[in-house]
Amino acid sequence: MKFGGTSVEDADAFRRVASIVKLAVNAQPVLVVSAIAGFTNSLLASVETAVKGDTRAAARTLDADFERHLSIANELLEPDPRAAFVSVVGDARSKIRQLHKIIAAHPVTSPPLQDEIVAYGEQLSSQLMTAILRQSGLAGRYVDARNCIKTDDVYGSAVPRPETTTTTRTEIAPLLLAAQIPVLGGFIGSTERGVTTTLGRGGSDYTAALIGAALDAREIEIWTDVSGVLTADPRIVPEAQTIRVLSYQEAAELAYFGAKVLHPKTIQPAVDKNIPVRVCNSRAPKEGGTLILSKSEAAPQTVKAIAHKSGITTVQITSARMLGAYGFLRALFEVFDRHQTAVDVVTTSEVSVSLSIDDAGTLPQLIPDLEQLGTVEIEKNRTIISIIGEGLRSTPGIAARVFSVIDDINVSMISVGASSVNLTFLVEESRAVDAINRLHRVCFEPSQVAPAPEEINA
Ligand code: ASP
Ligand code: MG
Repeated sequence: MKFGGTSVEDADAFRRVASIVKLAVNAQPVLVVSAIAGFTNSLLASVETAVKGDTRAAARTLDADFERHLSIANELLEPDPRAAFVSVVGDARSKIRQLHKIIAAHPVTSPPLQDEIVAYGEQLSSQLMTAILRQSGLAGRYVDARNCIKTDDVYGSAVPRPETTTTTRTEIAPLLLAAQIPVLGGFIGSTERGVTTTLGRGGSDYTAALIGAALDAREIEIWTDVSGVLTADPRIVPEAQTIRVLSYQEAAELAYFGAKVLHPKTIQPAVDKNIPVRVCNSRAPKEGGTLILSKSEAAPQTVKAIAHKSGITTVQITSARMLGAYGFLRALFEVFDRHQTAVDVVTTSEVSVSLSIDDAGTLPQLIPDLEQLGTVEIEKNRTIISIIGEGLRSTPGIAARVFSVIDDINVSMISVGASSVNLTFLVEESRAVDAINRLHRVCFEPSQVAPAPEEINA
Protein backbone atom coordinates (compact mmCIF):
# COMPACT_ATOMS: atom_id res chain seq x y z
CA MET A 1 0.00 0.00 0.00
CA LYS A 2 1.63 3.20 -1.16
CA PHE A 3 0.40 6.50 0.19
CA GLY A 4 1.35 9.61 -1.80
CA GLY A 5 2.23 13.06 -0.48
CA THR A 6 -1.34 14.36 -0.30
CA SER A 7 -2.43 11.21 1.54
CA VAL A 8 -0.01 12.19 4.33
CA GLU A 9 -0.30 15.97 4.14
CA ASP A 10 -1.63 16.64 7.65
CA ALA A 11 -2.87 15.02 10.85
CA ASP A 12 -6.27 14.14 9.35
CA ALA A 13 -4.58 12.50 6.41
CA PHE A 14 -2.36 10.37 8.70
CA ARG A 15 -5.47 9.41 10.69
CA ARG A 16 -7.22 8.32 7.50
CA VAL A 17 -4.24 6.18 6.52
CA ALA A 18 -4.24 4.48 9.92
CA SER A 19 -7.89 3.56 9.53
CA ILE A 20 -7.38 2.29 5.97
CA VAL A 21 -4.48 0.13 7.13
CA LYS A 22 -6.51 -1.18 10.06
CA LEU A 23 -9.04 -2.66 7.65
CA ALA A 24 -6.26 -4.31 5.65
CA VAL A 25 -4.22 -5.96 8.42
CA ASN A 26 -5.35 -9.47 7.56
CA ALA A 27 -3.89 -9.09 4.08
CA GLN A 28 -0.39 -8.55 5.58
CA PRO A 29 0.20 -5.07 4.19
CA VAL A 30 3.53 -3.40 3.60
CA LEU A 31 3.39 0.41 3.59
CA VAL A 32 5.34 2.74 1.35
CA VAL A 33 4.91 6.45 1.98
CA SER A 34 5.91 9.61 0.15
CA ALA A 35 7.23 12.71 1.86
CA ILE A 36 4.44 14.92 3.19
CA ALA A 37 2.97 17.06 0.39
CA GLY A 38 5.32 19.78 -0.83
CA PHE A 39 8.32 18.75 1.29
CA THR A 40 10.35 17.27 -1.57
CA ASN A 41 9.99 20.55 -3.47
CA SER A 42 11.17 22.53 -0.42
CA LEU A 43 14.13 20.19 0.13
CA LEU A 44 15.19 20.59 -3.50
CA ALA A 45 14.77 24.36 -3.28
CA SER A 46 16.93 24.41 -0.15
CA VAL A 47 19.73 22.68 -2.05
CA GLU A 48 19.52 25.28 -4.81
CA THR A 49 19.81 28.06 -2.25
CA ALA A 50 22.75 26.33 -0.58
CA VAL A 51 24.55 25.97 -3.93
CA LYS A 52 24.33 29.77 -4.24
CA GLY A 53 26.07 30.00 -0.87
CA ASP A 54 23.23 31.17 1.37
CA THR A 55 23.01 28.40 3.98
CA ARG A 56 20.84 30.42 6.35
CA ALA A 57 18.22 31.03 3.71
CA ALA A 58 18.48 27.35 2.73
CA ALA A 59 17.64 26.28 6.28
CA ARG A 60 14.81 28.80 6.52
CA THR A 61 13.21 27.29 3.39
CA LEU A 62 12.51 24.17 5.46
CA ASP A 63 11.28 25.63 8.76
CA ALA A 64 7.58 25.51 7.91
CA ASP A 65 7.78 21.88 6.76
CA PHE A 66 9.59 20.73 9.91
CA GLU A 67 6.90 22.53 11.90
CA ARG A 68 4.23 20.63 9.97
CA HIS A 69 5.81 17.33 10.99
CA LEU A 70 5.98 18.44 14.59
CA SER A 71 2.41 19.64 14.70
CA ILE A 72 1.16 16.33 13.26
CA ALA A 73 3.15 14.52 15.96
CA ASN A 74 1.73 16.90 18.56
CA GLU A 75 -1.80 16.23 17.50
CA LEU A 76 -1.54 12.45 17.09
CA LEU A 77 1.19 11.09 19.35
CA GLU A 78 1.36 10.55 23.08
CA PRO A 79 4.29 12.10 25.00
CA ASP A 80 6.83 9.26 24.69
CA PRO A 81 6.60 8.51 20.98
CA ARG A 82 6.21 12.24 20.40
CA ALA A 83 9.48 12.99 22.19
CA ALA A 84 11.19 10.27 20.18
CA PHE A 85 9.94 11.75 16.91
CA VAL A 86 10.84 15.30 17.96
CA SER A 87 14.42 14.15 18.38
CA VAL A 88 14.36 12.41 14.96
CA VAL A 89 13.28 15.73 13.42
CA GLY A 90 15.95 17.60 15.38
CA ASP A 91 18.65 15.26 14.09
CA ALA A 92 17.41 15.58 10.51
CA ARG A 93 17.42 19.36 10.82
CA SER A 94 20.99 19.60 12.04
CA LYS A 95 22.25 16.98 9.58
CA ILE A 96 20.64 18.89 6.71
CA ARG A 97 22.22 22.12 7.92
CA GLN A 98 25.65 20.49 7.86
CA LEU A 99 25.02 19.17 4.37
CA HIS A 100 23.95 22.66 3.20
CA LYS A 101 27.27 24.00 4.47
CA ILE A 102 29.28 21.38 2.59
CA ILE A 103 27.33 22.11 -0.58
CA ALA A 104 27.85 25.87 -0.17
CA ALA A 105 31.59 25.38 0.24
CA HIS A 106 31.95 22.76 -2.51
CA PRO A 107 29.03 23.04 -4.97
CA VAL A 108 30.47 20.15 -7.03
CA THR A 109 29.48 17.76 -4.24
CA SER A 110 25.84 18.60 -4.67
CA PRO A 111 24.48 15.64 -6.70
CA PRO A 112 25.01 12.94 -4.03
CA LEU A 113 24.40 15.37 -1.17
CA GLN A 114 21.18 16.55 -2.77
CA ASP A 115 19.90 12.97 -2.66
CA GLU A 116 21.06 12.66 0.94
CA ILE A 117 19.07 15.78 1.82
CA VAL A 118 15.96 15.03 -0.23
CA ALA A 119 15.77 11.52 1.26
CA TYR A 120 14.89 13.05 4.63
CA GLY A 121 11.42 13.76 3.26
CA GLU A 122 10.54 10.08 3.00
CA GLN A 123 12.54 9.10 6.09
CA LEU A 124 10.57 11.49 8.28
CA SER A 125 7.14 10.66 6.85
CA SER A 126 7.74 6.91 7.21
CA GLN A 127 8.98 7.21 10.79
CA LEU A 128 6.03 9.41 11.69
CA MET A 129 3.68 6.94 10.01
CA THR A 130 5.19 4.05 11.98
CA ALA A 131 4.67 5.89 15.27
CA ILE A 132 1.09 6.80 14.38
CA LEU A 133 0.23 3.22 13.40
CA ARG A 134 1.66 1.93 16.67
CA GLN A 135 -0.33 4.50 18.57
CA SER A 136 -3.47 3.19 16.82
CA GLY A 137 -2.68 -0.29 18.09
CA LEU A 138 -1.15 -1.58 14.85
CA ALA A 139 2.20 -3.36 14.72
CA GLY A 140 3.96 -0.77 12.53
CA ARG A 141 7.69 -1.34 12.05
CA TYR A 142 9.97 1.23 10.43
CA VAL A 143 12.25 -0.18 7.75
CA ASP A 144 14.98 1.95 6.19
CA ALA A 145 14.15 1.68 2.48
CA ARG A 146 17.82 2.20 1.65
CA ASN A 147 18.51 -1.31 2.91
CA CYS A 148 15.96 -2.71 0.44
CA ILE A 149 16.19 -0.66 -2.75
CA LYS A 150 19.72 -1.08 -4.12
CA THR A 151 20.61 1.19 -7.05
CA ASP A 152 23.37 2.44 -9.32
CA ASP A 153 24.91 5.82 -8.51
CA VAL A 154 23.04 8.06 -10.96
CA TYR A 155 22.01 10.55 -8.29
CA GLY A 156 18.57 12.06 -8.78
CA SER A 157 17.35 9.24 -11.02
CA ALA A 158 19.05 6.10 -9.81
CA VAL A 159 18.21 2.77 -11.44
CA PRO A 160 17.41 -0.18 -9.15
CA ARG A 161 19.80 -3.12 -9.29
CA PRO A 162 18.59 -6.72 -9.55
CA GLU A 163 19.68 -7.63 -6.01
CA THR A 164 16.85 -5.39 -4.76
CA THR A 165 14.67 -8.49 -4.87
CA THR A 166 16.82 -10.35 -2.34
CA THR A 167 17.64 -7.40 -0.11
CA THR A 168 13.95 -6.51 0.07
CA ARG A 169 12.94 -10.06 0.93
CA THR A 170 15.65 -10.34 3.56
CA GLU A 171 14.52 -7.13 5.25
CA ILE A 172 10.78 -7.54 5.00
CA ALA A 173 9.81 -11.21 4.93
CA PRO A 174 10.77 -11.91 8.58
CA LEU A 175 8.69 -8.93 9.72
CA LEU A 176 5.64 -10.20 7.85
CA LEU A 177 6.10 -13.63 9.40
CA ALA A 178 6.12 -11.96 12.79
CA ALA A 179 2.82 -10.21 11.91
CA GLN A 180 4.44 -6.78 11.78
CA ILE A 181 3.48 -4.03 9.34
CA PRO A 182 6.66 -2.80 7.64
CA VAL A 183 6.65 0.92 6.82
CA LEU A 184 9.14 2.29 4.30
CA GLY A 185 9.84 5.61 2.67
CA GLY A 186 9.31 5.53 -1.08
CA PHE A 187 11.60 7.17 -3.66
CA ILE A 188 14.89 6.45 -1.85
CA GLY A 189 17.55 3.80 -2.15
CA SER A 190 21.27 3.37 -1.79
CA THR A 191 24.27 2.28 -3.82
CA GLU A 192 26.30 -0.83 -3.21
CA ARG A 193 28.51 1.23 -0.96
CA GLY A 194 25.56 2.53 1.01
CA VAL A 195 25.38 6.07 -0.41
CA THR A 196 21.82 7.44 -0.47
CA THR A 197 20.13 7.79 -3.87
CA THR A 198 16.69 8.78 -5.16
CA LEU A 199 14.69 7.21 -7.99
CA GLY A 200 13.44 10.40 -9.69
CA ARG A 201 10.40 12.58 -9.02
CA GLY A 202 7.28 10.61 -8.22
CA GLY A 203 9.51 7.62 -7.44
CA SER A 204 7.45 6.29 -4.55
CA ASP A 205 5.13 4.49 -6.96
CA TYR A 206 8.21 2.79 -8.35
CA THR A 207 9.31 1.76 -4.86
CA ALA A 208 5.88 0.26 -4.23
CA ALA A 209 6.03 -1.73 -7.46
CA LEU A 210 9.59 -2.94 -6.74
CA ILE A 211 8.66 -4.08 -3.26
CA GLY A 212 5.41 -5.64 -4.36
CA ALA A 213 7.25 -7.54 -7.08
CA ALA A 214 10.06 -8.64 -4.75
CA LEU A 215 7.53 -10.02 -2.26
CA ASP A 216 5.17 -11.50 -4.88
CA ALA A 217 2.39 -9.35 -3.47
CA ARG A 218 -1.19 -10.21 -4.32
CA GLU A 219 -1.90 -6.57 -5.22
CA ILE A 220 -0.11 -3.23 -5.29
CA GLU A 221 -2.27 -0.36 -4.10
CA ILE A 222 -1.45 3.23 -4.96
CA TRP A 223 -3.40 5.48 -2.58
CA THR A 224 -3.81 9.03 -3.81
CA ASP A 225 -6.33 11.89 -3.61
CA VAL A 226 -8.49 11.06 -6.64
CA SER A 227 -10.84 8.15 -7.12
CA GLY A 228 -8.62 6.11 -9.39
CA VAL A 229 -8.10 6.80 -13.05
CA LEU A 230 -10.89 8.84 -14.63
CA THR A 231 -12.47 8.68 -18.08
CA ALA A 232 -11.29 12.26 -18.72
CA ASP A 233 -9.71 15.19 -16.92
CA PRO A 234 -12.41 16.22 -14.39
CA ARG A 235 -11.38 19.87 -14.64
CA ILE A 236 -12.57 19.75 -18.24
CA VAL A 237 -15.29 17.14 -18.06
CA PRO A 238 -17.22 17.41 -14.78
CA GLU A 239 -19.03 14.14 -15.62
CA ALA A 240 -15.77 12.16 -15.75
CA GLN A 241 -16.14 8.78 -14.05
CA THR A 242 -13.75 6.32 -12.48
CA ILE A 243 -12.59 3.62 -14.89
CA ARG A 244 -13.11 0.30 -13.11
CA VAL A 245 -10.62 -1.87 -14.99
CA LEU A 246 -7.76 -0.92 -17.29
CA SER A 247 -5.06 -2.96 -18.97
CA TYR A 248 -1.40 -2.13 -18.34
CA GLN A 249 -1.17 -0.99 -21.96
CA GLU A 250 -4.19 1.29 -21.72
CA ALA A 251 -2.74 2.82 -18.57
CA ALA A 252 0.54 3.41 -20.39
CA GLU A 253 -1.25 5.07 -23.33
CA LEU A 254 -3.09 7.34 -20.91
CA ALA A 255 0.16 8.38 -19.30
CA TYR A 256 1.83 9.09 -22.66
CA PHE A 257 -1.03 11.34 -23.66
CA GLY A 258 -0.93 13.52 -20.63
CA ALA A 259 -3.27 11.90 -18.11
CA LYS A 260 -2.02 12.01 -14.53
CA VAL A 261 -1.80 8.26 -14.07
CA LEU A 262 1.00 5.97 -13.09
CA HIS A 263 4.06 6.37 -15.24
CA PRO A 264 4.54 3.14 -17.24
CA LYS A 265 8.11 2.81 -16.01
CA THR A 266 7.01 2.90 -12.39
CA ILE A 267 4.71 -0.09 -12.67
CA GLN A 268 7.00 -2.20 -14.88
CA PRO A 269 8.04 -4.47 -11.98
CA ALA A 270 4.34 -5.19 -11.39
CA VAL A 271 3.73 -5.80 -15.10
CA ASP A 272 6.68 -8.22 -15.25
CA LYS A 273 5.20 -10.26 -12.44
CA ASN A 274 1.62 -9.82 -13.54
CA ILE A 275 0.59 -8.24 -10.23
CA PRO A 276 -2.60 -6.15 -10.33
CA VAL A 277 -2.16 -2.47 -9.49
CA ARG A 278 -5.07 -0.66 -7.87
CA VAL A 279 -5.34 3.13 -7.74
CA CYS A 280 -7.45 4.18 -4.74
CA ASN A 281 -8.60 7.39 -3.07
CA SER A 282 -7.49 7.81 0.54
CA ARG A 283 -10.30 10.34 1.04
CA ALA A 284 -12.92 7.87 -0.24
CA PRO A 285 -11.49 4.42 0.52
CA LYS A 286 -14.75 2.58 -0.13
CA GLU A 287 -14.98 3.67 -3.76
CA GLY A 288 -12.77 0.85 -5.03
CA GLY A 289 -10.76 2.92 -7.50
CA THR A 290 -9.26 1.56 -10.71
CA LEU A 291 -7.78 -1.88 -11.11
CA ILE A 292 -4.97 -2.19 -13.65
CA LEU A 293 -4.44 -5.72 -14.97
CA SER A 294 -2.72 -7.51 -17.79
CA LYS A 295 -4.55 -7.39 -21.09
CA SER A 296 -5.89 -10.91 -20.95
CA GLU A 297 -7.73 -10.14 -17.75
CA ALA A 298 -8.97 -6.66 -18.61
CA ALA A 299 -12.45 -6.44 -20.11
CA PRO A 300 -12.20 -5.24 -23.70
CA GLN A 301 -14.61 -2.34 -23.58
CA THR A 302 -14.59 -0.16 -26.63
CA VAL A 303 -13.45 3.12 -25.13
CA LYS A 304 -11.89 3.50 -21.70
CA ALA A 305 -10.74 7.09 -21.56
CA ILE A 306 -10.15 10.33 -23.38
CA ALA A 307 -6.75 11.84 -22.71
CA HIS A 308 -5.53 15.18 -23.97
CA LYS A 309 -2.50 17.41 -23.97
CA SER A 310 -2.61 21.12 -24.80
CA GLY A 311 0.09 23.60 -25.76
CA ILE A 312 1.06 21.54 -28.78
CA THR A 313 2.74 22.88 -31.92
CA THR A 314 2.48 21.13 -35.27
CA VAL A 315 5.15 21.28 -37.93
CA GLN A 316 4.36 20.37 -41.53
CA ILE A 317 7.09 19.82 -44.09
CA THR A 318 6.09 19.59 -47.73
CA SER A 319 8.47 18.68 -50.51
CA ALA A 320 8.11 17.20 -53.97
CA ARG A 321 11.47 15.55 -53.32
CA MET A 322 9.67 13.03 -51.16
CA LEU A 323 7.81 11.62 -54.14
CA GLY A 324 9.15 8.15 -54.70
CA ALA A 325 12.37 8.96 -52.83
CA TYR A 326 13.97 7.27 -49.87
CA GLY A 327 16.02 8.64 -47.00
CA PHE A 328 13.78 11.67 -46.56
CA LEU A 329 12.31 10.68 -43.21
CA ARG A 330 15.74 9.86 -41.88
CA ALA A 331 17.01 13.32 -42.88
CA LEU A 332 13.93 14.90 -41.33
CA PHE A 333 14.16 13.11 -38.01
CA GLU A 334 17.87 13.84 -37.84
CA VAL A 335 16.97 17.52 -37.60
CA PHE A 336 14.76 16.84 -34.56
CA ASP A 337 17.47 14.64 -33.11
CA ARG A 338 20.08 17.35 -33.55
CA HIS A 339 17.92 19.87 -31.72
CA GLN A 340 16.90 17.35 -29.05
CA THR A 341 13.22 17.88 -29.67
CA ALA A 342 10.80 15.07 -28.87
CA VAL A 343 8.09 14.34 -31.40
CA ASP A 344 4.69 13.00 -30.26
CA VAL A 345 2.38 12.32 -33.20
CA VAL A 346 3.50 11.81 -36.79
CA THR A 347 1.41 11.54 -39.94
CA THR A 348 2.66 11.31 -43.48
CA SER A 349 1.30 11.60 -46.99
CA GLU A 350 3.06 11.21 -50.31
CA VAL A 351 4.68 14.64 -50.27
CA SER A 352 4.28 15.94 -46.73
CA VAL A 353 4.98 14.99 -43.15
CA SER A 354 3.26 16.49 -40.11
CA LEU A 355 4.69 16.19 -36.62
CA SER A 356 3.58 17.45 -33.27
CA ILE A 357 5.92 18.71 -30.57
CA ASP A 358 5.11 19.96 -27.10
CA ASP A 359 8.24 21.99 -26.61
CA ALA A 360 8.26 24.87 -29.09
CA GLY A 361 11.40 26.36 -27.50
CA THR A 362 13.73 24.92 -30.14
CA LEU A 363 11.65 26.08 -33.13
CA PRO A 364 13.84 29.09 -34.02
CA GLN A 365 16.78 26.70 -34.51
CA LEU A 366 14.69 23.88 -36.01
CA ILE A 367 12.94 25.86 -38.73
CA PRO A 368 16.01 26.96 -40.78
CA ASP A 369 17.26 23.36 -40.81
CA LEU A 370 13.86 22.00 -41.80
CA GLU A 371 13.60 24.58 -44.58
CA GLN A 372 16.57 22.86 -46.21
CA LEU A 373 14.24 19.90 -46.72
CA GLY A 374 11.05 21.57 -47.92
CA THR A 375 8.38 24.16 -47.22
CA VAL A 376 7.67 24.44 -43.49
CA GLU A 377 4.34 25.40 -41.95
CA ILE A 378 3.89 25.87 -38.20
CA GLU A 379 0.62 25.85 -36.29
CA LYS A 380 0.61 26.69 -32.61
CA ASN A 381 -1.93 26.25 -29.81
CA ARG A 382 -3.15 22.78 -30.72
CA THR A 383 -4.45 20.04 -28.45
CA ILE A 384 -3.79 16.34 -28.90
CA ILE A 385 -6.87 14.28 -28.11
CA SER A 386 -6.43 10.57 -27.69
CA ILE A 387 -9.24 8.06 -27.36
CA ILE A 388 -7.99 4.98 -25.60
CA GLY A 389 -9.32 1.45 -25.25
CA GLU A 390 -8.32 -2.13 -26.02
CA GLY A 391 -11.50 -2.61 -28.01
CA LEU A 392 -10.73 0.12 -30.57
CA ARG A 393 -9.05 -2.12 -33.09
CA SER A 394 -11.90 -4.59 -33.27
CA THR A 395 -14.89 -2.28 -33.17
CA PRO A 396 -16.18 -1.28 -36.58
CA GLY A 397 -17.55 2.20 -37.02
CA ILE A 398 -15.89 3.73 -33.98
CA ALA A 399 -14.04 6.37 -36.02
CA ALA A 400 -17.25 7.40 -37.76
CA ARG A 401 -19.07 7.80 -34.46
CA VAL A 402 -16.21 9.75 -32.90
CA PHE A 403 -15.78 12.15 -35.78
CA SER A 404 -19.48 12.64 -36.40
CA VAL A 405 -19.97 14.25 -32.97
CA ILE A 406 -17.26 16.80 -33.73
CA ASP A 407 -17.99 17.24 -37.42
CA ASP A 408 -17.95 21.05 -37.15
CA ILE A 409 -14.51 21.09 -35.50
CA ASN A 410 -11.40 21.08 -37.61
CA VAL A 411 -9.43 17.90 -36.97
CA SER A 412 -5.89 17.23 -38.13
CA MET A 413 -3.22 14.54 -37.93
CA ILE A 414 -5.52 11.61 -37.35
CA SER A 415 -3.63 8.50 -36.39
CA VAL A 416 -4.93 5.11 -35.39
CA GLY A 417 -3.51 1.95 -34.23
CA ALA A 418 0.24 2.37 -33.95
CA SER A 419 -0.28 0.71 -30.59
CA SER A 420 -3.76 -0.44 -31.55
CA VAL A 421 -5.33 0.91 -28.38
CA ASN A 422 -5.58 4.56 -29.31
CA LEU A 423 -7.17 6.86 -31.84
CA THR A 424 -5.36 10.18 -31.79
CA PHE A 425 -5.89 13.51 -33.52
CA LEU A 426 -5.33 17.23 -33.03
CA VAL A 427 -7.75 20.12 -32.74
CA GLU A 428 -7.30 23.83 -32.17
CA GLU A 429 -6.80 24.49 -28.48
CA SER A 430 -9.78 26.87 -28.36
CA ARG A 431 -12.10 24.04 -29.46
CA ALA A 432 -10.61 21.33 -27.25
CA VAL A 433 -12.89 21.61 -24.20
CA ASP A 434 -15.99 21.49 -26.39
CA ALA A 435 -14.64 18.56 -28.42
CA ILE A 436 -13.61 16.52 -25.37
CA ASN A 437 -16.98 17.02 -23.70
CA ARG A 438 -18.88 15.94 -26.80
CA LEU A 439 -16.64 12.90 -27.17
CA HIS A 440 -17.11 12.06 -23.52
CA ARG A 441 -20.87 12.24 -23.93
CA VAL A 442 -20.91 9.89 -26.90
CA CYS A 443 -18.51 7.43 -25.27
CA PHE A 444 -19.53 7.47 -21.62
CA GLU A 445 -22.88 9.11 -21.07
CA PRO A 446 -24.99 6.76 -23.14
CA SER A 447 -28.41 7.89 -21.99
CA GLN A 448 -27.96 11.23 -23.72
CA VAL A 449 -27.14 9.97 -27.17
CA ALA A 450 -28.50 6.43 -27.40
CA PRO A 451 -25.31 4.80 -28.68
CA ALA A 452 -24.78 1.33 -30.02
CA PRO A 453 -24.97 -1.26 -27.21
CA GLU A 454 -21.25 -2.13 -27.20
CA GLU A 455 -20.43 1.44 -26.27
CA ILE A 456 -22.13 1.28 -22.94
CA ASN A 457 -19.50 1.04 -20.28
CA ALA A 458 -20.01 -0.87 -17.07
N1 ASP B 1 8.44 12.69 -2.67
C1 ASP B 1 8.91 12.38 -3.99
C2 ASP B 1 8.43 13.44 -4.97
O1 ASP B 1 7.72 14.34 -4.60
C3 ASP B 1 8.52 11.01 -4.42
C4 ASP B 1 7.03 10.74 -4.50
O2 ASP B 1 6.23 11.46 -3.89
O3 ASP B 1 6.66 9.78 -5.17
O4 ASP B 1 8.78 13.37 -6.11
MG1 MG C 1 3.92 11.91 -5.54
